[in-house]
Amino acid sequence: MKKVILFLALFLSINLAKAKVDRPIAITGTPIEMLFPQGKSKALILSFDDGNVADKHLVKLMNDYGLIGTFHLNSNKLGTKDYLTKEEVKNLYKGHEVSGHTANHPGLTSLSKIDVIYEVVEDRKELERITGYPVRGMSYPFGNTNDFVVEAITGLGIEYARTVGDTYNFSMPTEYLKWQPTIHLFGKTNYIPNDTANDRRELKNFYQITSEFLNVKTLALFYVWGHSWEYEGPGNKWAEVEKFFKIISRNPDIYYTTQIGLVDYINAFKNLKFSVDKDLVTNLSSLTVFIKINGKAFTIEAGTTKQLN
Ligand SMILES: [Zn+2]
Repeated sequence: MKKVILFLALFLSINLAKAKVDRPIAITGTPIEMLFPQGKSKALILSFDDGNVADKHLVKLMNDYGLIGTFHLNSNKLGTKDYLTKEEVKNLYKGHEVSGHTANHPGLTSLSKIDVIYEVVEDRKELERITGYPVRGMSYPFGNTNDFVVEAITGLGIEYARTVGDTYNFSMPTEYLKWQPTIHLFGKTNYIPNDTANDRRELKNFYQITSEFLNVKTLALFYVWGHSWEYEGPGNKWAEVEKFFKIISRNPDIYYTTQIGLVDYINAFKNLKFSVDKDLVTNLSSLTVFIKINGKAFTIEAGTTKQLN
């Protein structure tokens, strides 16, 4: 009997030891963090509304500094006074994103549901005809939205919609159809006419936030929006635009992206398929995804399965 127990104990201990080697105990709750492409932790979106003729000046400056933008256009206004023509739209925004801003620029919160749908779908259709690619996002005219408008545009192929509710922080979007940007370009300078003290304060605050972004160490999205027509007129506001572009451009730590580019990347990250033990991951998307687990960075090539250790 003693022999049997001894044998059993020996058998169990061998098997327990073996189990330890073959089957490490999985740790649950391991945070899997997203990094931006090339393992970067900062992203920049520059987004401009309306399709004013001054976009020609703006896009030229952006191209000179290697910056990428998302441009929200009102298709029914194109070709009218102060707006770009459809022919100009076709060529000007190459390498940037053309996105929706409704056909006629009404405040959507005072429209009927069918009119909201008409404004968004008609804009999409015409911009798609001009650009030759699916237009998948928009910004709200005047930044106006509410739950009724969000419900109306759901299912229309609009994957993101930007408000003007500035957050003054670098957080990632939580609701794509109520996307809040970081800050208006140059804050609220010129919002109050002839108030130079306010302008100075706002400009200082804008550059303070820009500097915080350049120095932040955690995952950060800097989303700046505006209108090219704001920099026309008296004084040389374009010099200020160029000054900002100089500060923010050609920085190896920043991922420069269109808005839809970031949406696609986040979706690719969210679609990663992990094994139960989180030691294997499959990336089914066409984008290479960069992640961090327990402080260690990994590159998951498009369409591959990778061992994570
Ligand atoms: Zn607008």
